[in-house]
Amino acid sequence: MEWNSPVKFVKGVGERRARALEQMGITTPGELIYHVPRRYLDRSTISPINQLTVGAEATVVGRVTGVKMVRGKRRPYFQLVITDDTGFLTCRWFNGAQWLADRFNKDDVVAVSGKIDFFGGLQISHPDFDILSDDKSNPINTGMIMPLYPSTQALQKVGLDSRGFRRVLKPLMPALKHMVPDPLPEPVQRNYHLLPLADALEQAHFPDSLSHLNAGRDRLKFDELFFMQLLLAIRSSAVVRKTKRNQYEQPGDILDSQYKLLPYDLTDAQKRVVREIWNDLNSPHPMNRLLQGDVGSGKTVVSLLSAAIAAGNGYQTALMAPTEILAEQHYQNAVKFFEGSPIRSVLLTGSHTPAQKKEIYKALKSGYYHLAVGTHALIQGKVEFKNLQLVIIDEQHRFGVVQRGDLIEKAADADVLVMTATPIPRTLSMTIYGDLAVSILDEMPKNRQPIITRRVDVAKLGRVYDFVRQEIQAGHQAFVVYPLIEESEKIDLEAATKGYDHLSTQVFPEFKLALLHGRMSGTEKEAVMSAFAKNEIQILVSTTVIEVGIDIPNATVMLIENAERFGLTQLHQLRGRIGRGTHRSVCVLVQRKPNPESTHRLEIMVKTSDGFKIAEEDLKIRGTGDLFGTRQHGLPNLKLADLVTDAEILREARKAAFEVVDDDPQLRKSHHAGLRHVVLTEFNDLLGFAKIG
Ligand code: ADP
Ligand code: MG
Repeated sequence: MEWNSPVKFVKGVGERRARALEQMGITTPGELIYHVPRRYLDRSTISPINQLTVGAEATVVGRVTGVKMVRGKRRPYFQLVITDDTGFLTCRWFNGAQWLADRFNKDDVVAVSGKIDFFGGLQISHPDFDILSDDKSNPINTGMIMPLYPSTQALQKVGLDSRGFRRVLKPLMPALKHMVPDPLPEPVQRNYHLLPLADALEQAHFPDSLSHLNAGRDRLKFDELFFMQLLLAIRSSAVVRKTKRNQYEQPGDILDSQYKLLPYDLTDAQKRVVREIWNDLNSPHPMNRLLQGDVGSGKTVVSLLSAAIAAGNGYQTALMAPTEILAEQHYQNAVKFFEGSPIRSVLLTGSHTPAQKKEIYKALKSGYYHLAVGTHALIQGKVEFKNLQLVIIDEQHRFGVVQRGDLIEKAADADVLVMTATPIPRTLSMTIYGDLAVSILDEMPKNRQPIITRRVDVAKLGRVYDFVRQEIQAGHQAFVVYPLIEESEKIDLEAATKGYDHLSTQVFPEFKLALLHGRMSGTEKEAVMSAFAKNEIQILVSTTVIEVGIDIPNATVMLIENAERFGLTQLHQLRGRIGRGTHRSVCVLVQRKPNPESTHRLEIMVKTSDGFKIAEEDLKIRGTGDLFGTRQHGLPNLKLADLVTDAEILREARKAAFEVVDDDPQLRKSHHAGLRHVVLTEFNDLLGFAKIG
């Protein structure tokens, strides 16, 4: 049996099963062997029915005592009752009822798992299940660890349920050692104490013990993370090995004079980061740096000082923001910041007329402007620069990663600074930003007051409104935010619009309110924001468009409606809009539909204002699925490894991968041939500009 031959030749597979396997992307024996169990049954993971807790996830093994179709209120459903001699458990399926009814028989032994409910008795809806009958290896009797495989209806129809997979895979195990190509160089395996790949795969399928199982899976996880990090290391080294055409001579007079003009002292963290950036700029190779700093830590001034260095050396800077509102704000900041200096800034947004745009393009090409501020259109459009050397991307974690490849046309060897608000736990930044050097602003400006956060239910809204009134009478301003429901921008708008009507006519008729949302034109948004900045508007009612970056130090209250609908990271970003001045600020989370889960989440917001902690909690609650499920970040998907629980393996894999690339950037050495082969066959499309030749 060859690793890469057609899977139909595996004993017990054949044409029909091969077709079903193909739908899951399994076409070779190698891919079949990498179809590792989704979970395992053993004594320690099986719960007796009389010890189940309602609301908890559990796995039960029992004998079927009853199967029937029930004529439900709306449509028929399938019901299965099992017993393990300590009690009875009912399983119900509302989808695919007939298909399921055909599969179970009385006295079958089954394993089911899911969340335990109570409806007149213990029950699980739509449990995950495996039929264990006539499998002599029932773990309760034998003490073995039984693998359960991911399957589909199509696979089950051809007999490839967990038992089917076990029967096909077991006979392949003795031959594994001769079949599996192990791409990891021997020194990596030795230094990181990894199980040989063949053993790891065997233990992942048919473990001898829990510790063997873990060692086996750890090796497989290491491989996944290692190849991801290898790609990052290759990308990173491709940049580092370039030599810039434009060299910097000194930090420059402009930096000096800007420093002196600052109305406050930089924090030590800001000073350190400016030095780190200068070191990068001063190096012969392009900068590739991530600046992480919690909301309010003062990233903007750092970016403008960097632009001052570039300008002082005769180079142009592009500063890109995720939204037009934010670009506008950065631009205003820049103009204020560079007042009286020779630096000329320009804003490029969608609201310019074609004639204006033409003028600006001309001036950029001639080098008249030193700093161009805009959205990503700045590097994507037909803008041309005279000598763009510094590219600053303020992406606030939201808009995906700008690939360096996107820059190739404008400035292939540009110095790149990506800025992001902290809520990326270290494990995530080692992945999605893993090819960048990292600077961290881990210190808030000294004048900050902590933000007080409260969770309230609707009954207390009256008192909350009174409080808002007091704050405004004291000269401050407030935000009221309505949730974004991504499926429907229209419904969002409706909630915000209704809220705005109600607040402006019924609750706060004496104040000036305005509504801000994503469907307004750039000019309309700018008008509202600038009126709010001047305190001509006291209460800004908005959708989440204010989430990123807006800086209005006089705003001291934020009321977030339906707070339970937001993710933690998003709440943290929103809350970061207040507490930016010297006054005490209050954030009120209005919980419309209280339940234990949302209360738990909102209480995290009440208890901590540390962006790192909040991000870690968010990652624990939501998992990395939506952050990481795809190749959108230009990285391979993870099947086994989990960025939350496997952080330690990630660190090791990263170290190993960067060591390999440091030693051999193009993977040309003979003992890296296996790595090279995997990279070229499986990940070539992800290398982007960093092609290995
Ligand atoms: P963020 O990191 O969230 O982008 P900003 O750059 O918008 O933060 O800074 C937040 C606020 O703090 C701004 O009003 C800015 O002027 C102010 N600020 C920045 N650095 C300092 C400092 N060292 N001392 C006092 N205030 C500062
Ligand atoms: Mg910012």
